[in-house]
Amino acid sequence: MPSKWKLLPKACVVCIAVLAASAGVLADSLDLCLPADATTVDVQTTAERIVLVFVSRTAEVLGATLASDVPSVAVRNTPNLAYFDHREGEIVLAHWGTLEEPLRMFFVSLTASDDLEQTSRLFTSLFNGFLVAHEMAHWLQHRCDAEMDRYTSESMANDLAVVFFVELEGGEEALVALRETIAQAIEHLVDPTPSEEDAAVYFNAHYAELARDPYQYGYFQFRFIIESIDQRDRFDFEKSVRSLCRF
Ligand SMILES: [Zn+2]
Repeated sequence: MPSKWKLLPKACVVCIAVLAASAGVLADSLDLCLPADATTVDVQTTAERIVLVFVSRTAEVLGATLASDVPSVAVRNTPNLAYFDHREGEIVLAHWGTLEEPLRMFFVSLTASDDLEQTSRLFTSLFNGFLVAHEMAHWLQHRCDAEMDRYTSESMANDLAVVFFVELEGGEEALVALRETIAQAIEHLVDPTPSEEDAAVYFNAHYAELARDPYQYGYFQFRFIIESIDQRDRFDFEKSVRSLCRF
């Protein structure tokens, strides 16, 4: 782990700050626990900093060439909420403050609380924090021409996001807090996999329709994230990146 990157936990869910130290002086800070009234610029600035830290870590493993073509970040609301567009070289992230009502209600249903602050924290820590690294894992999959099915790709993206954060200072605590939040949220969702079917086979066969339904797709992603956090001791960032890119 490079000593210059530090990740500090705060009181709320994945309320973490990445501090980039320059010559022993804290030069910058990043709070992943954006408030409910965070602007699109706040979301973009936060995500761009995560992108740069991820690229720096990747460059330390693979060298600067494979870590080039740094994706841009765009903040706009789409049904997918967060995704990497390899054609545009762009990570697209949703914005809580302007999210359409049906999707807002989806997140309200996950927290089963009238506390909109709690709901917005779930949203921002996930879609404007953790999943930025997840989308960077998809960027790396594309950069390294890694071929895999949808289930493996999504599972691996969460594995890599977890080891990215866990190797930063304070990341362990932040991920434990995120796991707790997601474990509570998944209690409000139902596993869409029919009892007689294998989850991976079902996910791959029905990916397009699952991706259009936040209740069903959310179940899978939450389960992936929980499993990745639970298995975080099995991986580290360097080995994961080398394995993905076959170096
Ligand atoms: Zn993904």
